[in-house]
Amino acid sequence: MAEVTIVEVSPRDGFQNDPKLISTEDKVEHIKKLVEAGFDKIEVTSFVHPKKVPQMADAEDVLGQIKHIIPLKKIALIPNERGYERAAKSHVDEVNWVSAATDTFNQKNIGMTIEDNDRRFFEVRKRAKEDQIQFNYSIAVAFGCPYEGGVSEEQVLRQVEKAVDQQVDRITIADTIGYAIPSQVESLMKKVVDMAAGIPVAIHLHDTRGFGLANAYAAYKQGVAIFETAVSGIGGCPFAPGAAGNLATEDLVYMFERMGVKTGLDFEKVIEAADFAAKLTTNKALGRIRHIERKFL
Ligand code: ZN
Repeated sequence: MAEVTIVEVSPRDGFQNDPKLISTEDKVEHIKKLVEAGFDKIEVTSFVHPKKVPQMADAEDVLGQIKHIIPLKKIALIPNERGYERAAKSHVDEVNWVSAATDTFNQKNIGMTIEDNDRRFFEVRKRAKEDQIQFNYSIAVAFGCPYEGGVSEEQVLRQVEKAVDQQVDRITIADTIGYAIPSQVESLMKKVVDMAAGIPVAIHLHDTRGFGLANAYAAYKQGVAIFETAVSGIGGCPFAPGAAGNLATEDLVYMFERMGVKTGLDFEKVIEAADFAAKLTTNKALGRIRHIERKFL
């Protein structure tokens, strides 16, 4: 039984920004490798406008080709109602709604203010409930914004409060740019976990400045048990200048397993998926760990 859940986001966050168009076949192959490694929650795509993010234009096709993989909870990012409708039709298990902690990032990312985004959030959350689709509420740039700079805990907690009011199924605090340092994570995540009052809390990490693992550890110590990472550390946000790759999943798995914290994943197969993802993308692979030294386990 896994003690922490790693939600693999490489098929979405890892691929979306890559200038090389990855074929649907390769994306599906990658997802299958991840399932073999033991991941049962994967963010497989996003229903954004194909002109904005061409790499995700095949969202329906990807989901169509993996729909028979039953143990896999298929998660898709949605930016608006239209995205929700497409996702619901494609039988996703969970939608990932993103609301940034700052107005400027919201404007750049989805073209609206926090207030406008919230109105849509309430509406879509209601529909997801009726459709029995799980709802993850992600708060982007929670530790720093490329446009506004520092982000206060109050700004993030205001968003958390709305998510709690709406009784979402998960709240994810995202370090979209990779600004966070461990003490900041420790302080904010403690407050978020308290405020969430039993709603599962996740952290989404980027490794821009090399603090990814330390931040994951700080969050874990505050009771966070769900982590969003990407194999091989691929990825970055097309609307977030300066964002480097996600925290590499294999590095996090290595850390947890050596701590004696079960991830439920087959490490060698995680590495196989990481190597495959690195081959598919032009991103410089950031994952550092390529094998588990069994003598330590
Ligand atoms: Zn991200």
